[in-house]
Amino acid sequence: MKVLKFGGSSVADAKRIKLVKKIVENNIKDDKQIIVVSAFGGVTDLLLEAAHQASLRDENYTGVMEKIEKRHLETMQELLPIASQSKAISAVKRELNTLETLLEGAFLIGETTPKLLDRILGYGELLSSYIVSEFFTSEGMDCIHKDSRALIKTDENYGKAAVDFKMTNRLCETYFGTVTYKTIVVPGFAASSPEGNSTTLGRGGSDYTAAIMAGAVNASVLEIWTDVSGMYTANPKLVKQAFAIPDISYEEAMELSHFGAKVLYPPTIQPVLSKGIPIHIKNTFQPEEQGTRIRKNTNGSARPVRGISHIDNMALLSLEGSGMVGISGISKRFFEVLSLHNINVALITQASSEHSICIGIAESDMQKAEKAVNEAFEYEIATKKINPVVVEDNLAIIALVGDNMKSHQGLSGKMFSSLGQNNVNIRAIAQGASERNISAVIDRADVKKALNTLHEHFFEEHVKQLNIFVMGAGNVGEKFLNQIRQQKKYLKEKLRLNVRVVALSNSRKMYFDDGGIDLKNWKDFLDKGEPADIDKFFEKVKALNLRNSIFVDNTANAVVAGTYAGYLKNSIAVVTCNKIACSSELEHYSQLKDLSRQYNAPFLFETNVGAGLPVIDTLKNLIASGDRVNKIQAVLSGSLNFVFNNFDDKSSFEGVVKQAQAEGYTEPDPKIDLSGVDVMRKILILARESGHELEIDDIENESFLPQESLDTTTVDDFYASLVKHSSHFENIYAEAAKKGCRLKYVAQFEDGKAKVGLQHIPKDHPFYNLEGKDNIVLFFTERYNEQPLLVKGAGAGADVTASGIFADIIRAGNF
Ligand code: ADP
Ligand code: ASP
Ligand code: MG
Repeated sequence: MKVLKFGGSSVADAKRIKLVKKIVENNIKDDKQIIVVSAFGGVTDLLLEAAHQASLRDENYTGVMEKIEKRHLETMQELLPIASQSKAISAVKRELNTLETLLEGAFLIGETTPKLLDRILGYGELLSSYIVSEFFTSEGMDCIHKDSRALIKTDENYGKAAVDFKMTNRLCETYFGTVTYKTIVVPGFAASSPEGNSTTLGRGGSDYTAAIMAGAVNASVLEIWTDVSGMYTANPKLVKQAFAIPDISYEEAMELSHFGAKVLYPPTIQPVLSKGIPIHIKNTFQPEEQGTRIRKNTNGSARPVRGISHIDNMALLSLEGSGMVGISGISKRFFEVLSLHNINVALITQASSEHSICIGIAESDMQKAEKAVNEAFEYEIATKKINPVVVEDNLAIIALVGDNMKSHQGLSGKMFSSLGQNNVNIRAIAQGASERNISAVIDRADVKKALNTLHEHFFEEHVKQLNIFVMGAGNVGEKFLNQIRQQKKYLKEKLRLNVRVVALSNSRKMYFDDGGIDLKNWKDFLDKGEPADIDKFFEKVKALNLRNSIFVDNTANAVVAGTYAGYLKNSIAVVTCNKIACSSELEHYSQLKDLSRQYNAPFLFETNVGAGLPVIDTLKNLIASGDRVNKIQAVLSGSLNFVFNNFDDKSSFEGVVKQAQAEGYTEPDPKIDLSGVDVMRKILILARESGHELEIDDIENESFLPQESLDTTTVDDFYASLVKHSSHFENIYAEAAKKGCRLKYVAQFEDGKAKVGLQHIPKDHPFYNLEGKDNIVLFFTERYNEQPLLVKGAGAGADVTASGIFADIIRAGNF
């Protein structure tokens, strides 16, 4: 004999019930089969709502009742041929009338007792199973309906009654052994006490009904048909990449369901476990899918972690106090009082100092538990031996589950470090001695992030998803987005990084899509976005709370630079080509570096110096390997290099600067480059990265610009002043040319001091042949003391800057 159970969503409407019939028909062999059905999807909730309203003397309960009635009658009309409708409809109407009378009773006395509530709730399954059975019969199947209240006997713990297996097994064996029909349709969830009062087996309890019957008749298999293709590695509604587990042991399945994998009601395993009856979870809507097989011996999978689950709406309750140390009996009293009040404890931790016990309980039990425990320890609290209990809500438990976890070291280390890296705060930890489960209590708001982080870590062959938030979509931003689009496949296949741009903003608009923006059409999306707002952008990034988040600043904006600390404090990495933050006051720069360390969030700004050239990375590696920088000499301004490489006695200075700007080599305000401020910022950053504490005012800058040009306030005025002072620039050129030298704007750092300025460079100097917009940096260090370490190449331009940002993203991703 086989037992098949169909859940609420599988019988939610006529169309779905027809699918169920197909599955059941395909199953018919010589043997009998028991079909257990849930209430039509959502009906149990409607019954609860009606009962609740009636108990509040709210007349709206009749509206809910009408909804329930309509749902059942309409489904029948769709399923049954006219000829067999009238008999079935009047039977259902009779039941509905009784239900209405029960609700009326609750309305009149303004109360529903647990006993009455169980009677009311059972109707969902009674009606659905009757309708399904009538439909099967009308389709020519050899089918009968049987009320399971006559088969499953329980105590009178209404709401979640305990089964009397002895009596139940006997009744089931007798009935199923003698019934002559091939298909027996029974309601799930509903049962009754020996006195004949209706009871229920707890929410989700139809699975249990099916398991009880499977155990009683020694079924060959218990099939649970639902709306997903098995028991998944994590809740598929929260973790997109989760997949169905093909094979799992009873113990693992039990552990996962106890910790929130709703697909199986936790007590379901127990009646089939001792008889070794396998459970097969299948998808009603995709019956061809393999599903999950739960059985005794699963072939040891290579993966130590089989699944990850979570329970929402948890609270922590801690009992602490010096009076607890070494006193036996405290825990006994503590757990006794909880049990007395029917409070279920999901997790326990006690430090070996015995100074505190901390338990995880359902949030709905929190107040009851707090009051009960405080009362039980009233004397100890009054005499200050124990503190009043401390409770915290808005928490959740997440758990890693797997039979093979015990034979693998370092799993909890991996679990906690990957959570820590994503700023998931862990409030309590528990690991059973069986090592089949490691659980942690975290903030409820972090559940989705935590599940995805752990899933990525333990199931996705280390493809790491990077969630990128991009501010600035101008020259550099555009190139950057194109590069990501082009390289997406490569990054995933070769570097195992799945890079998704989740948000984009320019100065006018911003656009968010937590499924990842389609980069082919990012401009259209951005155009349709909401008005840009730097602070709101940050708030939205924070609220999304995605794992491996990276904020990318492609602007030159001081306000944007002021937001980095906020990102870092939320463990969101910052990658920036904007130099403002790193060249601001030393205190601010140091604070950002500290936050980066403290919150495990990379803060990367390779493109602040030499665009995409690996200048800062090289310097970092030198320092990390114990080298010491004695001197840095560099041409760090691509734009100034371009200007002085192209300016001669045949060209105009203003024209060359304009050309540099048009080609994207200068800052949006070219004065920042020409005044030397940009170079000052760069050498300042290099000096700081070398370990020296410098402020921008410590840098000597002898500007080659006339004072009037320096004093201008707009870009137009600046250009006008360059025209006005053209002879000044011609003289500068002539003086160098006379000596056979070239003009280079050089930055130098030596003996803790930095300076920038225009220099005459003779032919034999490594700077002499520096072309176009190239940069060059010479590091003179303890190890590179004779010949400096040299980094040279294109030091400006949107494309190379974008690729530098790209490289930082990969560094952040591999962090
Ligand atoms: P039914 O009505 O068929 O009994 P349930 O709603 O009780 O179905 O259980 C199926 C649901 O369980 C799925 O739709 C899914 O959202 C949820 N679920 C939670 N965790 C898991 C998991 N680990 N694997 C599969 N489903 C899960
Ligand atoms: N109908 C009941 C519920 O919604 C039992 C079940 O579907 O398993 O909880
Ligand atoms: Mg269920």
